[in-house]
Amino acid sequence: MNNFLMDVYLGLGTNMGNKRKNLLTAAALLAERAGDVLAISSFYETEPWGFRSKNTFLNAALFLQTEFSPVELLDLTQGIEKDLGRTEKSDGTYKDRTIDIDILLYGNAIIRKERLVIPHPLMQVRRFVMEPLAEIAPFVIHPVLGKSMKDMLENLNNDEHEQK
Ligand code: ADP
Ligand code: MG
Repeated sequence: MNNFLMDVYLGLGTNMGNKRKNLLTAAALLAERAGDVLAISSFYETEPWGFRSKNTFLNAALFLQTEFSPVELLDLTQGIEKDLGRTEKSDGTYKDRTIDIDILLYGNAIIRKERLVIPHPLMQVRRFVMEPLAEIAPFVIHPVLGKSMKDMLENLNNDEHEQK
């Protein structure tokens, strides 16, 4: 544990069971175990990404202040994933899941460990991450790309537009 509070942004996703309840339960467990939950985005219904499933996702971003270190926080979020019924480990393929919790930003930290990469390396290409995140953190700056979440979402919108 550090003795000071870090601003952390998490990405939450679920495509099984009662999805609203899964997001709310995950948020409640985070508040209980990890620190103060200061904001939660709207819930966004999104299509599965990277795999085929008939179940759409419900995604949200969450703002947390925590004393836990990045790896301690990963242990905590993985514990919550497990408690909410996510038993299968991802083996490089995407699967249906009760809850997926990704650490998107941990203050301005840049971490590249085998178990943990922060900022989350795919956040800027995933609309289902950037849309909720830009809602609660529009002016937060990405420590590697040097862009605000709002600008990153707009870039994503423009790129998608160009592809059409
Ligand atoms: P995904 O989130 O890509 O769908 P998983 O949730 O199963 O897949 O994550 C696979 C692994 O990703 C985890 O075992 C974890 O150690 C690793 N990982 C690396 N960086 C992060 C991060 N920023 N947040 C969450 N997990 C991460
Ligand atoms: Mg994950």
